[in-house]
Amino acid sequence: MKMFLEGKWTDKPKKIEVRNPYDNSVVDTVPKGDGDDVARALSFAERGARVMAKLSGYERWRILRKAADLMAARNEELGRLISTEEGKIIAEGRLEANRAVETMMGSAEEAKRLHGETIPLDGDPGGAKKLGFTLRVPCGIVVAISPFNFPLNLVCHKVGPALAAGNSVIIKPATDTPLSALRLVEILLEAGLPPEGAQCITGSGGEIGDPLVSDRRVRKITFTGSREIGDRICRLAGIKKVTMELGSNCPVIVMPDADLNKVAVAVAATGYANAGQVCISTQRVLTAGKVYGDFLSALGPKVEALTIGNQLDEKTKVGPMVREVDAIRVEQWVKEAVGGGARVVTGGSRRGAVYAPTVVADVKPTMRISCDELFGPAVAVTPFGSIEEAIALANDSVYGLSAGIFTENIEWAMKFAREVESGNLHVNWGPQWRADLMPYGGLKESGFGKEGPRYAVEEMTELKMVVFHLGG
Ligand code: NAP
Repeated sequence: MKMFLEGKWTDKPKKIEVRNPYDNSVVDTVPKGDGDDVARALSFAERGARVMAKLSGYERWRILRKAADLMAARNEELGRLISTEEGKIIAEGRLEANRAVETMMGSAEEAKRLHGETIPLDGDPGGAKKLGFTLRVPCGIVVAISPFNFPLNLVCHKVGPALAAGNSVIIKPATDTPLSALRLVEILLEAGLPPEGAQCITGSGGEIGDPLVSDRRVRKITFTGSREIGDRICRLAGIKKVTMELGSNCPVIVMPDADLNKVAVAVAATGYANAGQVCISTQRVLTAGKVYGDFLSALGPKVEALTIGNQLDEKTKVGPMVREVDAIRVEQWVKEAVGGGARVVTGGSRRGAVYAPTVVADVKPTMRISCDELFGPAVAVTPFGSIEEAIALANDSVYGLSAGIFTENIEWAMKFAREVESGNLHVNWGPQWRADLMPYGGLKESGFGKEGPRYAVEEMTELKMVVFHLGG
């Protein structure tokens, strides 16, 4: 595919190969953009911002609504594209394509709801005869940088609200998975988006990232990706609005009164989807000592039953990781934990980029598989004594994106909700659950700012305060 730059599909002599992670076959190529392309994109986006700001809410709604309809009609094609470039199983590819429709639909609705409020200035001692209200206006140029693991829906979570708010957006998709983002741009143009409204530049983030995020014309950066790159972007961004959706090592707490079969089903579902490459994957299972053995007995068979293989085969439950080097990393971290006294309950083997779904028990909180972000198909099980200890273990992390607890006790559930330092909290399910309309984002070094169309639109707009000085 070509990249979309300055309102035109643009090719370059230098290419990047996009590969199917399962068999390493080349799916397609994209141009390798460079610093000159960034400069061109930024100049064009200045014009784009002016064009987009002139569109009415109704026009923005119509474009996004039509795009959502076109995406819904192309669900199977989009689902296969996602699975082929990313490696997630086809059922998850279709699900992501469906969720992306909801994200775009939700964004369309927000295009009609951009409003300010009247401010009761007469409540101020000097405010009599003043009339005040706020106006919500677009930021201008939005840079949207997305990760590999949800190549369509996470791009929609940025592009949908950015366009709903009347911005011009420059998309920088992950190099491993740029095709879904480029297809989205095609769809938006077909839906009537002015060509000035969006650009999609492909190329290595290490090369084109810095000039893109440091440019003063950019008024908003929305980034989803690793903490390391997020940290770099924050340092370079200067004075502009930034949203950071970063990683985590999400915990789930299993209290002694939990229904262990239900917990095992939930952990098998939330620890291994997309081969564990979900920012809110269950990674640390903190289990009450009283039920520790019973829980491992319930979990083992459920995880063993997850068949591995080609992601496009309907029978496969866990496909390859995005790159073999990541599967090798997961293998090393598991081996390191075993070397330190942990034990593999099931899994622990690797073939190419496919790492078998793995349960590691007796994990110490200081082991890398527990304290760093694993981002792979393994969960680390650790025993605890009291709820205070469980909460302390859950909070013993620089991250705070999502967490879960299994209990029937409302006191424990509320204590968990109040005291666990996490942006999303789930009672009686694992941390990996998201409705695309909810406010979603992390605490601590998992980031700041919220996604979900209603909340992202606020992040993608500025608030102006207008005061009428009436009465002479
Ligand atoms: P990543 O390596 O941080 O890359 C994310 C994006 O940043 C890619 O488009 C990448 O481009 C780009 N990039 C790289 N260097 C850059 C630079 N110097 N300046 C600007 N952009 C740069 O992350 P990933 O491996 O794709 O994704 C996995 C991470 O994302 C995990 O940590 C996961 O937890 C996190 N994540 C968080 C959420 C959330 O909502 N909180 C959701 C999904 C994923 P290249 O691909 O060209 O390097």
